[in-house]
Amino acid sequence: MKLASRLAEVRVSPTVAISTRARELKAEGRDIIALAAGEPDFETPQHIRDAAKRAIDRGETRYTATEGIPELREAIAAKFKRDNGLDYTPDQVLVGVGGKQVIFNVMMATLDADDEVIIPAPYWVSYPDIVRLFGGKPVFVNTKPEEGFRLTPEALEQAITPRTRWLLLNSPSNPTGVMYSSVDLSGLGAVLKRHPQVLVLTDDIYEMLTYGTVEFQTFASVVPELHERTLTMNGVSKAYAMTGWRIGYGAGPKPLMAAMKKIQGQSTYHPCTIAQWAAVEALNGPQDVLETMLSTFTHRRKQTLDALNATEGINCVSPDGAFYIFASIQAHLGRRAPNGTVLQKDSDWVLALMEDQGVAVVPGSAFGTPGYFRLSFAAADDLLAEATRRIRNFVERLD
Ligand code: PLP
Repeated sequence: MKLASRLAEVRVSPTVAISTRARELKAEGRDIIALAAGEPDFETPQHIRDAAKRAIDRGETRYTATEGIPELREAIAAKFKRDNGLDYTPDQVLVGVGGKQVIFNVMMATLDADDEVIIPAPYWVSYPDIVRLFGGKPVFVNTKPEEGFRLTPEALEQAITPRTRWLLLNSPSNPTGVMYSSVDLSGLGAVLKRHPQVLVLTDDIYEMLTYGTVEFQTFASVVPELHERTLTMNGVSKAYAMTGWRIGYGAGPKPLMAAMKKIQGQSTYHPCTIAQWAAVEALNGPQDVLETMLSTFTHRRKQTLDALNATEGINCVSPDGAFYIFASIQAHLGRRAPNGTVLQKDSDWVLALMEDQGVAVVPGSAFGTPGYFRLSFAAADDLLAEATRRIRNFVERLD
C-alpha cells in the first residue's frame, strides 16, 4: 500500500501505544492498573446527560452550521468574558470535534512547508505530529526543572526565526501540571511584541483543574496588545468529564477563524449536534460539579505525590493544575529490573514496571523529556494507593 509521504514523520500517539499494551495484558488476565490515559474517571454530570437526551427528543438531530450552533457559540463567548475577561463575539468562535480538531484546523490553515512552530518541552504528545502533518517544523525548546519547566523569555527569543509562525503554550501543562503566572506570560509577551510574524496558540484545556498554587491566566487577557495574534483554545472534555462527547472550541481573529471554518467545512463539517447541546448545558448550567471533581482531584494529588516522593530515587514536579504527576526516575537508570534487563531509558523503566507490577504509566520521552514518567491521578483512591505501593515494590527490587 502506497501511503502519502506526509505520514512518514507522524507517530501513532505514544500514550495510545501504552494504553493498548495495557489492554492486551489485561485481556491475558493480568491485573493492570492503567494510569496512562488523559481523561477524568468521572461520569459526565447528570444534568449534562439530561440535556443531551432532551436534545434528541426535541429532534436536534440534523446538520448544524459548520462553526457550531449559535447557542453554544454564545455560551462560549459568555464563558470567555466571565472566566477570563476576554471579549470575543460569537462569530469569532469555532466549535470543533474536541480541542484537538481546533489545533488541527489552525495548523492546516496557517502552515506552509518548513514553517516553524515553537513547542516548549515537555509537551502534549500530539502537538509535534499535527505540525509535521502539514509540513511544518516543530522547534522544541527544552524547559528546565530548575526553572519550573516554564519557557523563559530568553529561551523564547533565541528560538524565534523569520520562519516562526506559532508559539504553542499549554497551561496547566500536560504532562507537568505546571502553570504560567501573569508575570511569566507578560515576559513572553514582551518578546513576542518584537516579532510580528509570530502568533500564539494557548491550549487552556485544563483551566478548571487547578490546585491553588498559581492563579490561572490566559495569554490574550494578560497581553491584550496581542489579542489579535492569539488563538485561545479550550473545551469541555477535561473540565466536565466529557472526553467522549468531542467538543472543543477556539476563538481568535476573524480572518483566522474564517480559514479554520473553511477547513472544518470540508472535513467533519461540525461536531455532533447532540453533543453541542450537551456542551451548552455544561457551560451555562450549574458549575458546582466542577468543585466536586476538583476536591476529589485535590485529595488524590496529595495522596499520590506524598507516596511517590517517599519512594527512593523518584522526584516529582508538584503540579499546579491538570491531573498528572511528572516524576524523575533518572536515579534508577543504569540499574537492573527484577527480570534482569538493564534500565537504560525511561521507556525500559515503564515497560519493566508494567510487566513486573502491572502499572501502566507513560515515559517522559513521549513528551520530549527523557528520564521521567507521567502518571495520571484520574483514578479511584484505592487504585492510586495500590499503584504507588506497587511502584515502591518495583523500585525496592531494582538491582
Ligand atoms: N490539549 C491537551 C494538552 C490535552 O491533554 C488534550 C487531551 O488529552 C487535548 C488538548 C485534547 O482534548 P480534546 O480533543 O478532548 O478536547
